Amino acid sequence: MQSCGVLAYTIPGHKIIHMNAQALRMYGVENIEEAQSKLGTMLKKVIYPDVDVIEKLKRLHKVDDMVDYECIIGKGEPNECHALATTKVIRVPSGERAVITTFIDVSEMVVLKNALQKAEEGNRAKSTFLFAMSHDLRTPMNAIIGYAELMERHWGDNELTTNYLHKLKGASQFLLALIGNVLEIARIESGKETLNEAPWNLKKINDTLEIVLDREILNKQLHVARNIEIQHADVYCDSLKIQEIIMNLVSNAIKYTPDGGKIDVDIEEMEAVREDSIILRICVSDTGIGISQKYIPHIFEAFTREKNSSESGIMGTGLGLRIVKSFVDLMDGSVIVQSEPGKGSSFIVEIPCRIVSEEERIDQAEQSMPENFLKCKRILLVEDNELNVEIARTILQDVQAEVEVAADGAIAAGMDDYLAKPIEIDKLLRKIVKVLEKK
Ligand code: ADP
Repeated sequence: MQSCGVLAYTIPGHKIIHMNAQALRMYGVENIEEAQSKLGTMLKKVIYPDVDVIEKLKRLHKVDDMVDYECIIGKGEPNECHALATTKVIRVPSGERAVITTFIDVSEMVVLKNALQKAEEGNRAKSTFLFAMSHDLRTPMNAIIGYAELMERHWGDNELTTNYLHKLKGASQFLLALIGNVLEIARIESGKETLNEAPWNLKKINDTLEIVLDREILNKQLHVARNIEIQHADVYCDSLKIQEIIMNLVSNAIKYTPDGGKIDVDIEEMEAVREDSIILRICVSDTGIGISQKYIPHIFEAFTREKNSSESGIMGTGLGLRIVKSFVDLMDGSVIVQSEPGKGSSFIVEIPCRIVSEEERIDQAEQSMPENFLKCKRILLVEDNELNVEIARTILQDVQAEVEVAADGAIAAGMDDYLAKPIEIDKLLRKIVKVLEKK
């Protein structure tokens, strides 16, 4: 149990008549003489979270007048402490009046209270997240079940069922993208998202744009202009995250721009402070519905959507921009939004990337795999999931290897190495090359 701090001084006169060791520690002074010389400033520096306390303290006058309050002593100093205090007017044996204050140091409790509050906020955020997620998952699920039932009922009517099938596929794709985004958000929120940096050629952004523009622009009459100006294209970066950022921004621009609108995608390189780096600048502008100034501060929050977007029937979950912001933060970059309702929006992302040096480029070229290196090599693939067998078999047969499959380790009687799923082509082939080199 902490002992109490006690400080007593006369009024008027402000002469300290008692101050114990605990009070000296709380005020950060060595002895009573030092406290006496600094008393004025010492008392002035105390902070009272309850604004009425100062007035109540000033009104203390008659013997037995008393105030209970909370205060912070030495805010920002090494001796900072939160205390619960009681100040009372007493009469001392000499006949003078004095105020005596007793303090209990509750700093540790305040730390615990703050931690508890944080945990409660986290818990609330988790509940909101689950609530929003189950609502958002139910929407495409209902569509899938609904269209499947309609197809069953109208079986034989080719035109109708084709139309339902088309819608069912759309809802399934949306559900899949949503689950992907939710998993991504869960990884981000749990702090498990990390950067996976490797050399990449920024000109490949063109391929990403092809995919997203091809996929999204099908039924829309939009003018799209893209411009990629990069001098140092070979950089270290997390290419998947950069591509995901671009996909999210461009598909939003398409989603929120009515027919006849214009979309500009500008990807350029800017000078960085560090000589060995560049700043990749991604600017996606549209002439779409725009965003209100009121909503902009919330635009990067998960599961938020502007009212007009939710009411317009445009599908969305409010996760895309949260993912964009988290990825940009992870890469030490920045993202800003400029928008005017009815006129359009611009999203500008800047990400620093280190340029691949000449030596690193040579090293990489040396590490590249020889052509036909797996031609006619016999590979035993151990995998029990049929879909995964098909994927791995196709990858290996594409490089002309001969593949046999065993369902588990026991059937296979040993192994040379293993890979965790998901299967990445490059990783799989490199691993096999390594194993073959050792043989
Ligand atoms: P959503 O899945 O709803 O599109 P996002 O997180 O990508 O989720 O975007 C959040 C919200 O920001 C959208 O619902 C929309 O209200 C607004 N928004 C995003 N991009 C644009 C844009 N280019 N034009 C207008 N509004 C946009």
